Amino acid sequence: MNDIATLATRPPILGLQDVRVHYPMGTDWLGRPKAVAHALNGIDLQVQAGETLGIVGESGCGKSTLAQLLMGLIKPTSGRLDWVYNTDSERSSHVQIVFQDPQSSLDPRLPIWKIITEPLYVQRSAPRQNMRDIAAKVAAQVGIRAEYLDRYPHQFSGGQRQRIAIARALSSNPDIIVLDEPTSALDISVQAQILNLLSELQRARQLTYILISHNVSVVRHMADRVAVMYLGQVVELGSAAQVLEHPRHPYTRLLLEAVPRLGAPVDDAHVSAPTELPGNRNLPKGCFFRDRCPQATVGCERPQALLPASRSSGTEQVRCHLASAEQGLPTQPAG
Ligand code: ADP
Repeated sequence: MNDIATLATRPPILGLQDVRVHYPMGTDWLGRPKAVAHALNGIDLQVQAGETLGIVGESGCGKSTLAQLLMGLIKPTSGRLDWVYNTDSERSSHVQIVFQDPQSSLDPRLPIWKIITEPLYVQRSAPRQNMRDIAAKVAAQVGIRAEYLDRYPHQFSGGQRQRIAIARALSSNPDIIVLDEPTSALDISVQAQILNLLSELQRARQLTYILISHNVSVVRHMADRVAVMYLGQVVELGSAAQVLEHPRHPYTRLLLEAVPRLGAPVDDAHVSAPTELPGNRNLPKGCFFRDRCPQATVGCERPQALLPASRSSGTEQVRCHLASAEQGLPTQPAG
């Protein structure tokens, strides 16, 4: 984890401005979409070089869509993504992803040295004859010995397979790695080892992580800042300590209420859905969370902007007129 004040002085590596992703669903006889899934509904985020930004929220809130967008696999319907280091054509080499389940994300037919160098192979960014050497170097950094390079994924344990997936993400020397639930398919006993490895690699290689996780303990352990998503919007953004220990948005409070405090076994710390996400074919008017919010009141019928949470701090932001600096902070937690 980094010092938040130091991070704030680093340059942004990526900026998202009012990013929206809408998926057309089905077509009528004129070829027009019958409905639209509003997956992302105005994401504004700056990612600082070298930080770990945690993204939390219930299933369906748009986390995977955001990950796909960052990977360049889908384009925004509207809004902007500004990469500081990259042009569009080079982007894939600057962002890599580690998926939840190494069992299904590694090709079972390939020896691991080929898996590790797959991104370089796809990008043709290193001569073929160098691939094995590159694989050996990166494998060593994740704790996989060179004599195992010709083995196949099924010959490794779950934890080792995730190390191989991390090596694959590292081989093209990316700036940003998206970690999509990186430990949730692993035994509890190896989860901490993988998280520690990720932290060491971040320090050694100045990596920027975007950590998508349901698991609040993992986010608490790893993240410098946290963005809480609800129905394709960021509803709260701030330092991990602030957001997870002193949440301001009524939704974040509900989301965290069910989660045991620090020290609880990692496996018990999954967020249980406090609400069911409303459908996203027709977006709610006003605050998206209004119908489920225990504090809903006058003013919530207006659309809510992501605003500074306090006049003094400047770094915490919240999408709730009751909790932003404009109106003063609510004193009682929701519930
Ligand atoms: P999360 O990763 O948080 O579970 P997703 O990004 O997968 O959320 O999904 C956000 C919303 O977008 C959901 O309502 C989902 O059904 C919808 N969605 C995602 N991908 C598609 C797609 N390819 N076509 C239509 N709807 C989609």
